[in-house]
This record gives sequence, C-alpha cells and structure tokens, in this order.
Amino acid sequence: MAYEPVERHRKIEKVVIQERVGGDLKKYYRFRRDHWYGGVITADCAGCGLTCKYCWVRKESILEGREGGEFLKPEEVAHRVLELMREKKINQGRISGGEPTIGRRHLIQFLNVLQRRRVRFILETNGILIGEDESYAQDLALYPFLHVRVSLKGCTENEFARLTGADPRGFHLQLNALRNLKKAGVSAHPSVMLSFSGREEIDRLYSTIWKIDPILHSEIEKEEVILYPYVVEKLKRAGLEYYSGHIPEKKEGKRQNGKKTELERPRIEERGSSHGGKAKEKDERTSIQGKDPKIRIKRGTISPKPDAQKVLSDEE
Ligand code: SF4
Repeated sequence: MAYEPVERHRKIEKVVIQERVGGDLKKYYRFRRDHWYGGVITADCAGCGLTCKYCWVRKESILEGREGGEFLKPEEVAHRVLELMREKKINQGRISGGEPTIGRRHLIQFLNVLQRRRVRFILETNGILIGEDESYAQDLALYPFLHVRVSLKGCTENEFARLTGADPRGFHLQLNALRNLKKAGVSAHPSVMLSFSGREEIDRLYSTIWKIDPILHSEIEKEEVILYPYVVEKLKRAGLEYYSGHIPEKKEGKRQNGKKTELERPRIEERGSSHGGKAKEKDERTSIQGKDPKIRIKRGTISPKPDAQKVLSDEE
C-alpha cells in the first residue's frame, strides 16, 4: 500500500526531532570525512520520509529513527562539523544519511551558526518538503553559502512509486522543489537516479527540467545505484532490475590497531553486467547526458568572516 510522502516525513519528524525552546534537537548517528565533491565533512542524520529500495543506508531502523544515534542541538552539530573541517582542512560540509530537511527549525538554526565561518554547505535532499511548501525554499535563500542537491527518484511518476513505495504524486513534489528553489534564487542542481530508467523516460524528464530552467538542465547529475552487497539484497527482495550501477572498490584506509583498514569507494560498473543482482542484459541507453557525481560544487559562495556582513544572530 503506497504511503503519502509528506505525511510520512511528518511522522518521522516526531521520532527524530525533540522540540526545545533554545533549539530543536535532532538525531545524528555519525560524523565523518567523505570523498564526494572533492572532499566533504559529513554529518549523518537519522530519519527519512521515503523508503527507497536502493537506499545505501544499511539499517531501516536508522531511516525510521528508531535505533542508534544521539539527539543534538543545532550548535552541537555545527561545532562538530566545523571541528572536523579544521582538522581535515576542508571547507565544505553536508548533512547526509537520512533527510536533512526534516526538522526545519533545527536546520535553519544549524545554518545560522555556519553563516560566519567561511564554509560552503551542500544540502542533499529528496525535495519533498521543499516542494510542498514554497516558504521553505525562501528560508534557504537567506544563506548564500548554501547549495542544494535535489535527488530525483527516477524519471516518471510510476518509477518514483516503484523505487520509493510512495504515492506517485510525490514525484511532482520533487520537481516542485526545483521550481521553488529556482524562484527563491537558491543555488541548486538536480541529480537523477538513472539506474532503473529507460531512454524514453530519461529524455522526457530532461525536457521537463529544461522547461523549469535550462541552467538546471545543463547541471543534471547522473546518479546510479551503489551495489553494496546489502543494497543488492534489497534490490533482489524488491524485484528491481537495474541497467547500471557502481560497485564499491576496496581501498586501504588508516592504520587501526596496527592493521590497515579497508575503505569502500564506489566506482562505475560496466553497463549491463550482472554483478550479483538483476542487471538488465544489455544497456542500450547510449550517451546519457549528465555530470559525474563527484563534481566539485563551485556554486554557492563561502560564508563570510565573522561580522563581515549583517547576519541573523545565533540567538534568533
Ligand atoms: S530519500 Fe535518500 S535517505 Fe531517504 S530512503 Fe531515499 S535514498 Fe534513502
């Protein structure tokens, strides 16, 4: 039975957000450096209002906010991110894991703290809540150091429903998010999950995005499923076939207890191969336009030095 995506986001919000007068707390389960965008400090939050069948978050309990993590104030999250930025000498940050737009007041207060710290911030979102309420995009427009990546789940209503289990109309909320962000003047680009889509559907979506804004069209990022073993299992259970995907490549990481650890980094798999799952026999979708997901985000300015401009105070 399909669920209504906005309603589900609100339901999850009740689990992962604790309202407080001085700043709402949100549940986070990890802070780390990641290699995307040429290096980015990442805070992983719990809770998402979609249930994508290819989601790389291993545990459903994390996406439902039931298990793991700790409730943190917006300032605490910002300070942990800034501390890691200083340590790793990286000035880009993001919130990943679950859905960062859940807990709007928490997110806005978090961004307020980053305003004076000479950083760039990438908001990776499924766009449902921004598409549902135009004023969310207007709030985000107050932060010129912010860049928003809206991750579209497939190319059509039906694909959206198949990939997420949600009401197909949710697909239009994702497109609305792009419209609302553009209208509000927020730096943004669409990424599109293309692993499961046929050429015709892809062309149709690209043309819709072009009508929203030719610049957004020129900045479409190709997203492809990452074939971690547990993701392949999820796909098998859901009976989903894919055209293409990334397989995680093992690399040596830091030394721990005298041993080198292994880091998993995704790299592209040959199209149409059948790595452990149900790949389509042959991928005939030649020359699909779109940027590499590891692009360095250059749009969105760096937030200014302290007191360099009039900004909202942390106490607001
Ligand atoms: S929107 Fe993102 S975090 Fe949420 S289920 Fe889908 S892939 Fe996972």
